Order: sequence, then structure tokens, then C-alpha cells
Amino acid sequence: MSNLSPIHSTCAYCGVGCGIVATRQADGSLAIRGDETHPANFGRLCSKGSALGDTVGDERRLLYPMINGNKAEWDDALALVAAKFKATIKEHGADSVAFYVSGQLLTEDYYVANKLMKGFIGSANIDTNSRLCMASTVAGHKRAFGTDTVPGVYADIEHADLVVLVGSNLAWCHPVLYQRLATAKADRPSMKVINIDPRRTATSDLADLHLSLRIGTDVALFNHLLAQIEARGAIDPSAYEKVNGLPNALESARSDDVSVCGLEPREVEAFVQAFIGTQKVVTIFSQGVNQSSAGTDKVNAIINCHLATGRIGKEGMGPFSVTGQPNAMGGREVGGLANMLACHLDLEVAEHRKTVQEFWKVEKVPERPGLKAVDMFKAVADGKVKAIWIMCTNPIVSLPEADGVKAALEACDFVVVSDLSADVETAKVADVLLPATGWGEKDGTVTNSDRLISRQRSLLPPAGAARHDWDIISEVGRRMGWVRDFAYSSPAQIFKEFAALSAACAVHGRDFDISGLVEVDYDTMEPIRWPVRADGSQTERFFADGVYFTPSGKANAIPIRFREPVSKREPKYPYRLNTGRIRDQWHTMTRSGLSAKLGQHLPEPFVEIHPEDARRSGIEPQSLVELTSPTGTAILRAQITHRVSEGELFVPIHWTDVFASNGRVDALVAAVVDPVSGQPESKASVVAAKPYAPAWYGFAVTRRNVSPLTDYWSRARIQGGWRIELAGKTACDFEELARFILEYEGELIRYCDQSKGTARFAALHDGKVLGALFIAPDPLKVSKEFITASLGSGSPFVLAGRPAADMPDPGPIVCSCFSVGVNTILTAIQEGGLMTVDEIGGALRAGTNCGSCKPELAEMLARGQSRQAAE
Ligand code: SF4
Repeated sequence: MSNLSPIHSTCAYCGVGCGIVATRQADGSLAIRGDETHPANFGRLCSKGSALGDTVGDERRLLYPMINGNKAEWDDALALVAAKFKATIKEHGADSVAFYVSGQLLTEDYYVANKLMKGFIGSANIDTNSRLCMASTVAGHKRAFGTDTVPGVYADIEHADLVVLVGSNLAWCHPVLYQRLATAKADRPSMKVINIDPRRTATSDLADLHLSLRIGTDVALFNHLLAQIEARGAIDPSAYEKVNGLPNALESARSDDVSVCGLEPREVEAFVQAFIGTQKVVTIFSQGVNQSSAGTDKVNAIINCHLATGRIGKEGMGPFSVTGQPNAMGGREVGGLANMLACHLDLEVAEHRKTVQEFWKVEKVPERPGLKAVDMFKAVADGKVKAIWIMCTNPIVSLPEADGVKAALEACDFVVVSDLSADVETAKVADVLLPATGWGEKDGTVTNSDRLISRQRSLLPPAGAARHDWDIISEVGRRMGWVRDFAYSSPAQIFKEFAALSAACAVHGRDFDISGLVEVDYDTMEPIRWPVRADGSQTERFFADGVYFTPSGKANAIPIRFREPVSKREPKYPYRLNTGRIRDQWHTMTRSGLSAKLGQHLPEPFVEIHPEDARRSGIEPQSLVELTSPTGTAILRAQITHRVSEGELFVPIHWTDVFASNGRVDALVAAVVDPVSGQPESKASVVAAKPYAPAWYGFAVTRRNVSPLTDYWSRARIQGGWRIELAGKTACDFEELARFILEYEGELIRYCDQSKGTARFAALHDGKVLGALFIAPDPLKVSKEFITASLGSGSPFVLAGRPAADMPDPGPIVCSCFSVGVNTILTAIQEGGLMTVDEIGGALRAGTNCGSCKPELAEMLARGQSRQAAE
């Protein structure tokens, strides 16, 4: 593939689904820019999307199939997979096998996997990591609307007069959508934003009101709102006709007590008044709502308020779920969840099954839902599932009680893993490892959070012997005996079949219909929002006409009562643990961890803890903290901050054994799930926190890719190498450690002071710094950014650990695009009298490329200082 002309494709990461334009450079690299014509982003990209070009090399790639850890031929690997699955099904039945797939698969991959499992193997045991992301929204939508329908579109966020964000750090998790919101608010200052989140996040700085409610109490807050909507006569007069069950929902709402939220009455009143007093309200919700044992109820509590006020399906109004993954929506559309059929049909409805059965020409489609993610791995542990195929996801890191998942897979009879890397935890337990193509190589479609179907186009040839997921699954289907049914030769052929299936399903009058795309020119297909019916008609927003996809045609208001999170705090586990994402990393860092630019921002796993809690637990700033739950432990760097409330901790989800010795936070998370959706409660586990108290701390930069064998370590990619944090419980030979970590061909210079327990090493060659290691008995007081920037340079001050007095220390990086640190920004604000984010951009360029750091710049302006400037 030598094409140097620009190719339009879609970002690999979040559910915003931004369009990108990739141009292959003469040296083989990819230049990435935002697609100005794409309706999701109109040219914008966040830091992750901007850095996509850094992540497409062969590093960490799996380049050939492997059987039991040995290189194998495709033919042998596929034959073994087909034979083992067939034999297992024959001996133990169809439900003894399972597929665990991913919201990163393309719709065509997903369609074929779902067809193989539900149509031909005859089990519904296919579930997806989207279960961890938005299953509660799917269940809430279905309860309220009859189908899993996102009613509105992104433009509604810009048209709204009030945007309520619930459990959504939009600034970091959906940055381009945040930018659209921030721009709309700047253009129209009368627009109000209310942020409902236990944590103060980067998103809070855009908000006119931040409600820091207690973790898990959202239902009580929205029930209070619903009761007040009734009490203040704000129910839409037509709601009693259009909405089933409203009186019962109101009665439940009246029974709850909002005081459990721990908010000031005036804050609650301000929220109630703003909601009731504003017609154009959009409520955006995300994982903070979904990842809960009451996730489905939270979704319905929000929807109830919109149904009661008639604020749905109209411009600038409606409940709005934003999905985490790039193709979570596509997976929902093909029926990739264990309890769904393709085209938003229901597994339990005989006529729906019949349509799909007849289309696929199969005897039977399962009548009962299959195993949902958490139950699937419990069934693996119990020996009920004996063969599992895991595609494009890393459950040993991402599922709750992750250590138990690992043990279950290690004991499983037959584990197949399709992935683009062999260097992920789950790949290490595979009997058969199949190399799959990665983002830049794949060809197909994805659907974003506002129902926009976009093409993802191949930009690079497959690495090594990697094959597309749809191709691998089809080949196994053929080898299992269904030759004609899986005779696919292109994703276009699969998409056409899927569109034709939606035409057959249209008889049921559901929301999802892309029959108008059966004859679309797949290669040149532009982004298009479903539905696209056979007559070409489309629906921009659903439900404006008050007609829903329920048997009665009415929406359902669901009576709900507040429930506490399942895990209870107790003296042994006094903290509630909230988990989430950071700005510049994605999932388990398989891709984003390759980018030096992205590694600059928050390079180490951390725990946010309130100053009072830190004081009580004896936790010092920048020290290490050991978190323990009933299911696991993690060791993380302390960030003492008022962003979290007392009694609550926050940790990011991204770190794996590849990047840290003990940073897999899902080992701490209890495997309790929402009873309706099966989604795990990832944001309300209980833990204990205490100082880790090592005998020494270390910090190194090196060109070598090493995983030190010290008690604690974490590493991040930097330009030309790695930065590594270290700590040890017992004294070690630091000279030996330096020789292991640092690459040196020339001189190893050292400065050691045994009386203070400090040591400093620098490896130099031809006057260039090849690496440096710093050791101290306490958290190091050196400039890590200066040391990082010294790698490969001729800096004479590297052993000093700080720049010379006349040279500035940039401090921790805030703007990844231009490597601008917090000290540089604070100095410019103070000395340059900068008053706005734009002025910071003008002075330092920070925030002028992708804009992902703008919320942090605004926070720094507002507070003078929001981060710990010196480590
Ligand atoms: Fe990619 Fe960022 Fe757009 Fe999400 S917001 S799709 S991560 S560029």
C-alpha cells in the first residue's frame, strides 16, 4: 500500500466517533488531522486522536499465530480452533462454549461473530466488554422506550439552554463533545451547565453548578427532581396520555429522601429550579451512571424526568447516553450482547427470532439470553464453559475481580485469543493466539453515540500475518461446516447482508433500519445517521411524535427506589473506591501506551485521596499507597486533593502488568452487578488504604525497555525511551540496579551518599545522556520532566536532577501536544498577567492544537494553582 493521498477514516478511541484524515508519509508514518467534513467533530480531535499516528508501528504486535506459546501456521491454528469448538459442543452442548468480544470490533466483525454463535453454534453465549460500559443504558432504554434508542443527536447539546452532566467527565472521556459544549456555552453565555459527579473533575470547571453527591445516590436526586416536577405543576399535560406508569413512578419518587445524596439543600434547589425552569434540557450520562448495581434504575430515573416534562425528541432536549467505546453502538445494533438479537430485536420474542432464523436459514435461534460478561467468566471458573474465544479485549485487566478471571482462564480447557498484541495479560493464557489487524489496518464501519455510521478505512497493510477479525471468524465458521453461510470475502459483502437483514426486520417496526444502505457504495460511503429506510427516509430525532416502540406505543415511566451500592463500608474497608479514565490514556493502554506524547500526562498510576483521609491514614504527598479490597491489592502514587470527598477515593483504570507492578485496579473491584443489565458496579467497591512505606524510592529514564524486578515499578513511554518509577521494601544494590536499567556503552557516573541513603547514576556516551537513575529514602525531590527531557541530550546537569538556576523547570506536563508543563504555565499566568485560556495559548501555544488541556488551563487560571507543581 503506497498511497500517499489522504484517506478519510474514524478515530480508534471513544464513542464520540470523530472523523480523521490520515496521510501516509514517504517514511511510512501516518499524519493525522481532524476531518473538517465529519459531522461528529468538524475537524476537531483530542490529544488521543491527534496522537494516533504514534501508535501504528509493529511494536508489541503479534505477527503470527501461536499454539501453546509456539509459532504456528494459520492453517493449523484455525483447524485446531474449529476442531476444539466442534468437539466441545458435541460432548457438552452448545452452551459449553462462549465468545467474549469487544466494542472495538467493527460492525462487520461483530455481525459475523454474532451470526456464528447465535445462528449456527446455537447458543447466545456471546457477550462484549461493552457490558462494562453501557449495558445499563441499553436496559434502561428498552424499559422506557421498548428499544435501545438514543433519541437525540450531538447538535442538541449545542441547542440546549441547560446541559446536565451525570457521571460523565466529558472533558477527559469525550473531549471533542466537551469542546463542542464549551464552544456553544462561550458563544451563548446564557446556556447553563450542571455537573453531577462525586468528584470535582476537569469538566466541573465549565459548570455553573457542581453537585458533588455521594457515590451511588443519583436515583435519590432524580427521584427528588421528579417529585418536585409534580409538586410544582411542571408535568407536561400530555405525559399522562403518552407515558405508561407515570403515577406509580411519581409515587416511588415521592418516597425517596434526597438527603442521602449529602448535598446542601440550596444546591439541590438550584438544580431543581434550573431543570424545571428550562424547557431545552439535555441530560448527558455516561459510565458514572451505568457502572452501578443500580445503573439501569439511574438511567430510568433520568429518563422519567424527561418523559414527565415532555422534553424528549425535540431540538435541544432529551436524555443522552454517550458511549465509551468507538463501536459500542454498532455492537448493540448487530445484537452483540448476550440478551439481544440483531437490529434491536428481542431474543425472547418468537416472531423476532423467526425473522432472523429465516434470514440466516437456520433451524433455531436461542430463546434464552446467554451468559453476560461477569457470569460468563464465573461459568468458565465453574467449568461450565469449557472453550472460550476472546476477541480484541483484555478481561484479565478490565473485568472486576480480575485475579479470579485470570485463574479461571488459566484453568479453562481451551482459550482462544484474537488480539493485535501478544504482550497483554489475556494473550498470555491463550492456548491459541491469533494475530488480528489493528485500527489502522481494518476496514469496515462503526456507529458513534448519536447513531452516525462512519467508515473506518484501511490505512496500512496488515502487520506480519495478521488477518481481519471478520475473516478469522468466517474461516472458523467454514471449518466448522457452514461453508456457504460464512463465504465472505469482504466487509462490504457483510455490511450488505446486515443491511438486508435490517430490511427483513423492518416488518417489526423497530427503530433500527438501514435497509436503504443495501446498495450503498461501501467504498465511498459518507457518514450517515440511522435509520435509513428502504425509501431513503431518515429520522433525525426519535419520539418527537410521542410514539414509542412498546406494544402500546407509549413510553414507560419506571417506578424506582434508591438503593445503596452493594458493597458496604466497614471498619476494615472504610473507603469507597471510584474508578475512571484519564485524559490521555485509553482502556488498558495497548495502543495509547505506545505514544510518548500521551505518556507525558499522568505517567504513573495514582489514587486521589482527600487531605483529611490522607492525614488520618498517615499518607504523605507523592508517597506510595497500598489499597486492599476483599479481592485484591494495588500500589499507587498518592495525589492528595480536594477533588474527592472524604471517605471516597478515585483511581484510573488503565494500568496493566505491562506498565506497572501492581496497578491493575480491577483486581480490587467486587464482581457485583446490576440485576437488570448485568453491568458490574465498577465505581463503588470498598477498600482500605495505608502507606506502602518502601525503604527507598527511585526514578529512572532509560532507552531500554525493561520491567524492573523491584517491589514497585511503573513505566511510561517517553521520547527515545522510558521513564520508570521504582521503590523497594528492602535495601538493594543500587549500582547493580543501575546496570540493569540503564543502557550504557561508555561512562557510568555516580554520586552516592550512604549516610543519606541517596544515589544518583548517569550513563553517558559521547557526551549524550543514555539514562539516569535517582534513589532516595523518601519520594524524590527532583524535576522528573527535566530528567526526562535530558534523555538523549547533552545536558551537563542531569545528575543534579534539576535544571540550572537560570533555566526553568517545566514541571509536570499539562499540554501533551507542545510539552508545556504546569510550572511554565503558572509562571506565565503570574508574570505575564494572563487572564484567559486563549491568552495562555497565545503566549505558550498550550491548548492551541487539540485543546484537550483547555479545561486544566481554565482550572489553573481559576484557582491559581491546581496541581502539585513540584514533586
Ligand atoms: Fe477520538 Fe478524541 Fe474524538 Fe474520542 S474525542 S473519537 S478519542 S479524537
